[in-house]
Amino acid sequence: MSEDHKDELMHRLRHSTAHVMAQAVLEKFPKGQVAIGPPIEDGFYYDFELPRPLTPDDLEEIEARMKEIVAEEHPFEYREVDEREARQIFADQIYKQELIDGLVSGGEDEYGEKSEEPVVLSIYTDGDFVDLCRGPHVENTKQINPQAIKLLNVAGAYWRGDEHRPMLQRIYGTVWKTQEDLEQYLWKLEEAKRRDHRRLGQDLGLYSVNEEIGAGLILWHPKGGMIRQVIEDYWRQEHYKGGYDIVFTPHIGKADLWKTSGHLDFYQESMYAPLDIEGVQYYLKPMNCPFHVLMYKSDTRSYRDLPLRWAELGTVYRYERSGVLHGLMRVRGFTQDDAHIFCTPEQVDDEILRVLRFSINILRAFGFSEYEVMLSTRPEKFIGEPARWEQAQAALRRALEIEELDYTVDEGGGAFYGPKIDIKIKDALGRLWQCTTIQFDFNLSERFDMNYVGEDGLEHRPYMVHRALLGSLERFFGVLVEHYGGAFPVWLSPVQATLIPIADRHVSYCEQVAEQLKAAGLRVEVDKSNDRMRNKIRKAQEQKVPYMLIVGDREVEGGQVSIRLRSGEDLKGHPVDEFIAMAHEAIKEKA
Ligand SMILES: [Zn+2]
Ligand SMILES: [Zn+2]
Repeated sequence: MSEDHKDELMHRLRHSTAHVMAQAVLEKFPKGQVAIGPPIEDGFYYDFELPRPLTPDDLEEIEARMKEIVAEEHPFEYREVDEREARQIFADQIYKQELIDGLVSGGEDEYGEKSEEPVVLSIYTDGDFVDLCRGPHVENTKQINPQAIKLLNVAGAYWRGDEHRPMLQRIYGTVWKTQEDLEQYLWKLEEAKRRDHRRLGQDLGLYSVNEEIGAGLILWHPKGGMIRQVIEDYWRQEHYKGGYDIVFTPHIGKADLWKTSGHLDFYQESMYAPLDIEGVQYYLKPMNCPFHVLMYKSDTRSYRDLPLRWAELGTVYRYERSGVLHGLMRVRGFTQDDAHIFCTPEQVDDEILRVLRFSINILRAFGFSEYEVMLSTRPEKFIGEPARWEQAQAALRRALEIEELDYTVDEGGGAFYGPKIDIKIKDALGRLWQCTTIQFDFNLSERFDMNYVGEDGLEHRPYMVHRALLGSLERFFGVLVEHYGGAFPVWLSPVQATLIPIADRHVSYCEQVAEQLKAAGLRVEVDKSNDRMRNKIRKAQEQKVPYMLIVGDREVEGGQVSIRLRSGEDLKGHPVDEFIAMAHEAIKEKA
């Protein structure tokens, strides 16, 4: 069975279960109004207007009734109806009447969304329930596994998403093929909640967002700041090793610059209002590219100077609606780990292979070894010479083949200005996150008239490639927090070891060991609180510190530390030097 077909079955199962849920709800509240109930990713919902707010007990009752309805083995029957009959069937249903209005006046489907196809009024009946519906459904409720149904929660939702219309109650539910699949899914949901970076961000003292400063603007607290520092240090070191130069550019630039770059034409919606400086308009930068281009143009470039690889941790500001902001994942100000590569046509193949390899190596170091890779090719509307597009696409494809990365091709899915490779990383829960982009640009080099002097003494246009590797440091940090559930590998942990004196008389020895560990480059804390040892261990464990080093009389006498891992494993007493070697080994291994 193909993936698509399986998905389609799940889609029908979920939509059918939504109908069964609506039936159960209407049995309980015969005067209830039903709105819409589509299948969604991993489940379904249905919106209702009911005489009172639903409680968790209601959900349980509705779910139990759903299981009975399913077992009654009702067929799903499809029928096309004319407007008069439809209005009659749903005579008591005000939202269905409004949906019929939309359908008959043309151009809207039953979810109130613009439809491409001509609309036919159709209904689906199963048992006592009838819905204005296009389907598709399963043939019979018996195809729904009652053990695999679960109602999840109720949330408020405005009719048609319009805050001036009534607030409805939206019941979210899920259904799978087997009980096992359901349990797996529920476990993932719980696990995702447990790993939520917003919660861990607070519990571990990593970052915060403060309404007095503004939504979507991140404060990196000392521990989050330490992790960022480690990420940046590693990033810089690898970039220097990889033949990049690191540059810095300002946060604002003149309106004319963004006119030349085209951002004010096609990207203005994501930019903030301009600042006025001595009568000249400046914009906060949404991207770093034009700055790097002008740096390139600050000198005459010869083919001998190329390739140039310029990387920057560049902080950019992009407008996002307040409703979509989400922790570290969706913010208004963020630092992109950006780079631009400028090269000659002869260097394109090597440069692309090099940047792809470089990117994968860094993603691996952070513990991401599974990817979903997409190559997007020339769309119908494009700028630049077709021959250049061909060469660029061939280089991208060749690099993917050499690196033996599985990839899909999005034919015609590239931006108008160049083809690209996108890499999504898979986290510990199997969720995908867009990270790396390697993207040709045939637009900026034209707009800014970039040149280099070739071997022939004539001016040529360089190839320009944008590359973001981790994407945004904020978002990547959020992904890291959730991937590791806050238990970062040793090299990233803000505190790598906590020294725990059993009694006050062991404190000075702990401090002496701490100095020794710091001198060896480790990040260490001594817990000098007057908590009992057990509490100290629990605190360190909650902070997900990789090593707890417990010190009592025996350790002081023997010049040792008793090592306990955050997993709870007890490694017993070891000389301090041995511990240092162990920690260094773990740091070297990275993920
Ligand atoms: Zn339906
Ligand atoms: Zn760029």
